Amino acid sequence: MTHETLDAGPELPAEAIDAIERAATAAHRHEGLFSERAAHIKQSAVRDVFDISMRPGLVSLAGGNPYLQSLPLEKLGQTAARIITEEGMTALQYGGGQGTEELRTQICEIMAAEGITDARPENVVITAGSQSAQDVATKVFCNPGDVVLVENPTYVGALNTFEAYQVQVETVDMDDNGLVPELLEAKIAELQAEGKNIKFLYTIPNFNNPSGITLSPARRQHIVDICSNANILVLEDNPYGLLRFDGKPLAPMRAANAHDVIYMGSFSKIFAPGLRIGWALVPEHLQRRFYLASEAVTLCPPTLNQMIISAYLRDYDWRAQIDTYRALYEERCNALLVALAEHMPPGLSWTKPEGGFFVWVTLPDGVDTYPLLKKAIEAGVVFIPGAAFTHSDEPSNKLRLAFSAVPPESIAEGVRRLAPVLQEAIDV
Ligand code: PMP
Repeated sequence: MTHETLDAGPELPAEAIDAIERAATAAHRHEGLFSERAAHIKQSAVRDVFDISMRPGLVSLAGGNPYLQSLPLEKLGQTAARIITEEGMTALQYGGGQGTEELRTQICEIMAAEGITDARPENVVITAGSQSAQDVATKVFCNPGDVVLVENPTYVGALNTFEAYQVQVETVDMDDNGLVPELLEAKIAELQAEGKNIKFLYTIPNFNNPSGITLSPARRQHIVDICSNANILVLEDNPYGLLRFDGKPLAPMRAANAHDVIYMGSFSKIFAPGLRIGWALVPEHLQRRFYLASEAVTLCPPTLNQMIISAYLRDYDWRAQIDTYRALYEERCNALLVALAEHMPPGLSWTKPEGGFFVWVTLPDGVDTYPLLKKAIEAGVVFIPGAAFTHSDEPSNKLRLAFSAVPPESIAEGVRRLAPVLQEAIDV
């Protein structure tokens, strides 16, 4: 074969050329049909890096994936098979829009383990992961231009949801004890003086994604009171609360106030994210709208997956499984903290989480971590640059490291690979 024929490539059949042309003209004709909202729906930087981080040989400190290997997979397989063969007519059928009563009752038990003792099954709406609960809450409460308050930094998936609904996102800074109440108060006053319509505060009080910071118990009630007095709801996102390394879980903000807080929970971190089951505990007076909006999106949450989770909660020691996860994540977190202390260049600092999946590293002012990602990948390690977790396009001198999915030895190796990349950025 000559070079020329290689360059030209095989000749396409006429039908293929025709199909390509038709697709191109359709794309052109449909361009004007997109909603304004569609232009606001962004690709998550975390999802971008997700594919790269699967490459063999790379140490991925990027994805906050739970470590599923410790689940009783064989027994779960038997459970799933039994549910389909013996209860298939229910499991494979449509179900109630709010989710099964059995699972909602069990969810109340899980929330009681965290300190919410007054939840009733009828107050729970089961959703396709807590991501879907965030979407429903934004849909129900926010018009374009309304304000949502978030802590800085915050979960990228929530930011993407808010932006898709064309909401104005306003940030409030945290310190080592979480969201700072005085800054929240000042921000609310400023925005309300401008005539802004603030709908809710979205907050991750336990082991914030991405920073790992925990809102101190002393501040929880205070923050709920500030919001309640200003007639703003609190959207409390708590997927990691049970994964506190030492001691009992901290009482959620919802434990102190059943009227102003919508609480969101998830099986993604305490069981398995692939089942896509989360929930919202909604104050009674808001329930109907919330439930109808959820039903309008999914009709009903997946019945089979709910039944698998119910069987798991009924037949297995889920509390012991959570203890297994806690010990495992604590070991990995410690491995990361030790490796950072050993290898990181001077001038860097990082958070020391009490639970969850993430450590947040701060580089000296003026260093932008985004361009460092490419170099880190070349060095064989992946992280998420801090800019992914803010709604502005400002460069960030932070980066997120996730320890949940990586064994301790690989964590140490990942940090060893990362250190020279960061050192070089500081030296410049
Ligand atoms: N909230 C936070 C803070 C998260 O970190 C995540 C997942 N990374 C979610 C919500 C989404 O969870 P789910 O799988 O339940 O949709």
